[in-house]
Amino acid sequence: MPSPTVRMWLDGAWQVVRAGADLVVPLLCGGCGRAGARWCRSCDDVAHDDPIVLTPRVAPPVGAWALGRYRGPLRSAILELKEHGRRDLVTPLGSGLARGLVTLAAWSELPDATELVLVPAPTRAWSARRRGGDPVTAIAAEAASRLGSRVRVAPMLRTSMWARDSAGLSARGRVDNLDHAIAVRPRARRSIASTHARAAVVLVDDVLTTGATASESIRVLAGIGVRVDAVLVIAGA
Ligand SMILES: [Zn+2]
Repeated sequence: MPSPTVRMWLDGAWQVVRAGADLVVPLLCGGCGRAGARWCRSCDDVAHDDPIVLTPRVAPPVGAWALGRYRGPLRSAILELKEHGRRDLVTPLGSGLARGLVTLAAWSELPDATELVLVPAPTRAWSARRRGGDPVTAIAAEAASRLGSRVRVAPMLRTSMWARDSAGLSARGRVDNLDHAIAVRPRARRSIASTHARAAVVLVDDVLTTGATASESIRVLAGIGVRVDAVLVIAGA
């Protein structure tokens, strides 16, 4: 009997669990700043819109997609989460990421597979500690939790200590800066060993700007025999 396609089982596993309005305490929406909810329905619609294709300057060798552009609710949510510790925004962003994966599978942008592995793009260890844990891994885990047991997160990558902050660098400078600056985590090989031969692999990140981080991540993963099938980020610049 043929195994179900990734489209079939992702669609079956998908549960629309949207962030509910908090009716107890007046709160500001992490996407638009309106009072009354941590995350309003209007911003939730933006996060659950169809993915858009990205064409970054440093083009990855696979399709690169985003839930939307880096502006409005998605930009605000990422900044609120990363800079102001709004960990509650992991839930709607993870939900949006899950929806994006289902859509890409429905569009046949993901290969038929018996398992889907989400690899978070690397975050500097010190910044992850400062911000209370890597937000990209948290968003990926939230997405995986909504998509069933055949979707898992494998944090295989880390940045090397000499990776400088890329803010302010040109696209070329970012490529140079990242050269050899992304490394495989020590335990990644164990994770790879347990990865099914027919797993689909998606690299996930919060923002894709030049494409340098994604391209280098894909190159490093290829070096250990992990073939990335697509890139999906929350917001594309
Ligand atoms: Zn809003």
